[in-house]
Amino acid sequence: MNTKINSNKITRREFSLRLAKGGAGLVAATVLPSFSTVIKNNIPSKNFIDVHHHLGSDLMTNSANFSFDPVLNWMDKHGVSQTVLLSPIQYPETYYPGRNKNVISNDELLEKFQETNGRLLPFCLVHYDAFKSTKEIVKVLKQFKKKGVIGFGELKPRDKQGNSGNIPLDDPRMKRIYAACAEVDFPVLFHIDNKHAVDVPGLPAMERVLKEFSDVNFIGHANGWWNSITGDVKELKGYPKGKVSSGGAAVRLLENYSNMYADLSANSGLNAITRDPEFGKKFLADYSEKLMFGTDAIGGAGRESHFDFYNNIDLPEEIKAKLFRDNTRKLLKI
Ligand SMILES: [Zn+2]
Repeated sequence: MNTKINSNKITRREFSLRLAKGGAGLVAATVLPSFSTVIKNNIPSKNFIDVHHHLGSDLMTNSANFSFDPVLNWMDKHGVSQTVLLSPIQYPETYYPGRNKNVISNDELLEKFQETNGRLLPFCLVHYDAFKSTKEIVKVLKQFKKKGVIGFGELKPRDKQGNSGNIPLDDPRMKRIYAACAEVDFPVLFHIDNKHAVDVPGLPAMERVLKEFSDVNFIGHANGWWNSITGDVKELKGYPKGKVSSGGAAVRLLENYSNMYADLSANSGLNAITRDPEFGKKFLADYSEKLMFGTDAIGGAGRESHFDFYNNIDLPEEIKAKLFRDNTRKLLKI
């Protein structure tokens, strides 16, 4: 990996900055106390769990003055008890890159997560080109898991220049990751569209993966997934408006596969639910066991529209409880 990076005259740091809205790596030093011993202490009882949030680069300085406060303050303001941070821990990176030169190492960042006593929960990423075998990925994921990581994603494949990876969702390199996640019992959260985790209308690649990896729980997200809510889907990009017709692949996969879930985050998620309000409300009720509230906010900023919509939605309390927090608790075992 490093050889490849150097041959392209991209430094390790530049690589990590371009990689994603997150980054870090594996350090095999001290094993922290079991995460399950700290989780559930001091979790305030609030309306939402956000299953889809990013750290961004603005929070990052260095380990001495690093703070999650902007995210925690945002959670308090919006009634969010726990937040899943996607992609802060990455491999082959060993640190989370900040906007400035200062960075925080993976292990330091994982300790900071532990200090939040379960209010902030990290997912991780392993780059699709980092390893040639499932076994190698499993080794990395097991070490991450020991230090508090609870899932894999956001799996939004990018190449080493940081451009969209154009990797079919059922590419062999992706399958290695799914197989590893099966072994360590991590759910996989995807960014499905026409240029990252790639599928086509009808979501045939997603369906093949659901069948082949029936013991992995997959969480659909982004335009490719949400545009597939309608049977007359045209493209797995953009934000189509108007009536939803029957036969949408996303609906069918949620219906037919016990390992298919989806998060309601981002403009794509909100658009899918609101483009045809009658359908959207019925869909939330029909799949109230499979859908999870999420925002795709970055560093405790943005996505006010999600709260505006879901705080005012007219649904029975027991359905809201599942969508807003209980499904996520169950799926992530938190
Ligand atoms: Zn995201």
